[in-house]
Amino acid sequence: MILVINAGSSSIKYKIFELKTLRVIQQGLIEEVKNHHQAFKDLQDGIIDFEKLRAIGHRVVHGGEHFSEPVLIDAKVIETIKSLTPLAPLHNPANLEGIYAAQNLAPNIPHIAVFDTAFHQSVPPYSYRYPLPNELYERLHVRRYGFHGTSHHYVASEASKILQKPLKELNLITLHIGNGVSACAIEKGKSIDTSMGMTPLEGLMMGTRSGSIDPAIVAYLMREGGYGIDEVDTLLNKKSGLLGIAGESDMRTILASKSQEASLAVDMFTHRLKKQVGAYMAILESVDALIFTGGIGENSEQIRTLTCKGLEKFHFKTLVIATDEELQIALHVKELCT
Ligand code: ADP
Repeated sequence: MILVINAGSSSIKYKIFELKTLRVIQQGLIEEVKNHHQAFKDLQDGIIDFEKLRAIGHRVVHGGEHFSEPVLIDAKVIETIKSLTPLAPLHNPANLEGIYAAQNLAPNIPHIAVFDTAFHQSVPPYSYRYPLPNELYERLHVRRYGFHGTSHHYVASEASKILQKPLKELNLITLHIGNGVSACAIEKGKSIDTSMGMTPLEGLMMGTRSGSIDPAIVAYLMREGGYGIDEVDTLLNKKSGLLGIAGESDMRTILASKSQEASLAVDMFTHRLKKQVGAYMAILESVDALIFTGGIGENSEQIRTLTCKGLEKFHFKTLVIATDEELQIALHVKELCT
């Protein structure tokens, strides 16, 4: 059996797959986690038989420039993940807590780290660099990294099955539209551009994140609006996006609402998605399919229709594919361990 762990700062998601078929045997979510070691002990007591596990896959958010593929976790990998904490101050430490706790209970099996950023390591410098002084890249690693990589990779692989064409021959635009939203331009199976940047704040409008805005707004808010740096950070990450405009971040509620604000939020959301699709059509020579995934992308025909309106003349297929990041992690783990 393969166990896949997604350890957040206050929750742990797990899924157990049968090794041969990758059928899901068991899954769950532990919330309000205060101590990862204790949470894993609780899992061991009656939920997961660690003796039966062949390997464990860990979702790790930030791999920086160090990881373009899943890796077997050793002391050096742990040090590297730790060193990337400034780039993902909430996520990487929580992911590491999960790794430590799982290693403690299953020290003799392989633990594999699968990074959210890895799929986007194929993005070329002219796309991942910001037009800022070189020194910021060299000393502070300021560049675009991209996220949701496991999801973009998974739906692209599924598209290759549906279209019956090898992934390395496909050009795709993938839209992961959930609470977090990101787009990816895939050329010959590889990510060549993605909308999230150094952090998941850049790019499209999201549930509570603003996505891209004029960066001068930050200085303006601090100078004129009396905002402190942490307040700006919270404003852009937690109080903006759909929530900021519609007063609500859940797309189902927004679509059911008749308020003007809700209608504006939907228009802004889909306008930005459409512009992103257009930009990616421009950088890809041809597009085999546009793929929708994530809670909104998979379930809302209205959002898909509004996003694609006017794009009919470009004659590419539109696919709706349910993402499965845990299965993609299990696939990587199986490939590395068997
Ligand atoms: P996360 O990014 O947290 O994993 P999900 O991918 O589950 O989130 O997406 C959550 C979003 O999907 C919410 O905004 C929710 O309202 C939306 N959603 C789920 N089902 C539907 C639906 N039938 N119609 C519109 N939106 C939906």
